[in-house]
Amino acid sequence: MPLTPQIETSPVGNRQSLGLYLSIPFCRSKCTYCNFASGVYPASHHDQYVQRLVGDLLASSSQAAERGLHLPQTVDSIYFGGGTPVLLSSAHFHAIFRAIRETFPLSADVEITVECAPGQLSDSTLEALVACGVNRVSLGVQSFIDRECATSGRLHTRADVLTDLSRLRGAGIENLNLDLLAGLAGQTTDSWRESVDILLQTGVPHASVYMLEIDEDSRLGRELLQGGARYHADLVPSDDAIASMYETAIELFLDAGLAQYEISNFARTGFASRHNLRYWRRAPYLGLGLDASSMLFAEDDSIGSSPASLRFTTTSSLDDYLAGTAPLAEQSWLGPVQQMEEFWFLGLRRNSGIAVADLIRLFGDEAAQPSLAVAHRLVADGLLCFERHPERFTLSPHGRLLSNNVFAEFLAAHPSSSASL
Ligand code: SF4
Repeated sequence: MPLTPQIETSPVGNRQSLGLYLSIPFCRSKCTYCNFASGVYPASHHDQYVQRLVGDLLASSSQAAERGLHLPQTVDSIYFGGGTPVLLSSAHFHAIFRAIRETFPLSADVEITVECAPGQLSDSTLEALVACGVNRVSLGVQSFIDRECATSGRLHTRADVLTDLSRLRGAGIENLNLDLLAGLAGQTTDSWRESVDILLQTGVPHASVYMLEIDEDSRLGRELLQGGARYHADLVPSDDAIASMYETAIELFLDAGLAQYEISNFARTGFASRHNLRYWRRAPYLGLGLDASSMLFAEDDSIGSSPASLRFTTTSSLDDYLAGTAPLAEQSWLGPVQQMEEFWFLGLRRNSGIAVADLIRLFGDEAAQPSLAVAHRLVADGLLCFERHPERFTLSPHGRLLSNNVFAEFLAAHPSSSASL
């Protein structure tokens, strides 16, 4: 399969095409820092889950119509996340792709990404991915230091990653992303630098860098919050050390031609992830499967340039999902004010930031003024940058490290806000 670089051509606010997200929540082991709705389940659950997913795909158009939602018919990005999607068999992938193609026309240049845990991609599944048209793979590496992976409950080694890269390239998939995670137990400035260097030596066209999230949803996060030492919590680097690792990665990637285009994402020209850009541009997407989020616009365009949009998330209980009970965990309709807040805090994640012309085109001059006043105040505080020709706001390097505080300022601009970060 040829290399398929994706170019950022779709305008902000484009509602003409759809992205599909398919959640596959199965893993071989649970990483200590993981706060996703994923788990270790018997393979017998896989069949049942795929049947349910296929049913949801086939019913998606009629369900959207019943709820008054506009479901764009052409799909130009598909993303299998999880979990570890490649634990599904080749027959599962063929069944899911049959249902996708029965339900939606795919654009000729559709981007199809599958997340993969290194060392867990069988030959038959790889063959199925290629046969189904998968043209992008994201490998969850997190670290090239074997002891850091082992300490975090990950099952792979550096050698597994390098072998997988070579197998994927041999199969014609060259649009490859590697994830790194800053904040693993035992990680040091030197070991982080080694991971970044090895990533660059692989020559992949895309990298993502995340910083450890400390919350109640992971075993390591809970231990850190309680001040304990289980899961090697006592070896987790300090917040300042993690921030410095992130800044080191930005510099080294830039020098090597991987330009930052979003807070956590870096790519060579033409290799930005089309699917992920959709989230930050507020373009519609439909998420299916466990704990999957969707954002669709109302069919009725009566509000004018900004019809109401609905955000909804499926249940995070596998039993409920398989049984078809309580399929939705939450949903909320967003009016123009909440959509404008989202427009700011999602758009500022991208290095290209917010073009004032887009803001006014989508929401109107008068409605935009309170948020523009907030943005100019943040420029004075050194958290945003402002360009005049054309007018555009972006996060400053300092603002990037304090991004959640910056985003919260836009919620405060409108007391009636209900959007969440
Ligand atoms: S492989 Fe990913 S989804 Fe699975 S447990 Fe580890 S971090 Fe979580």
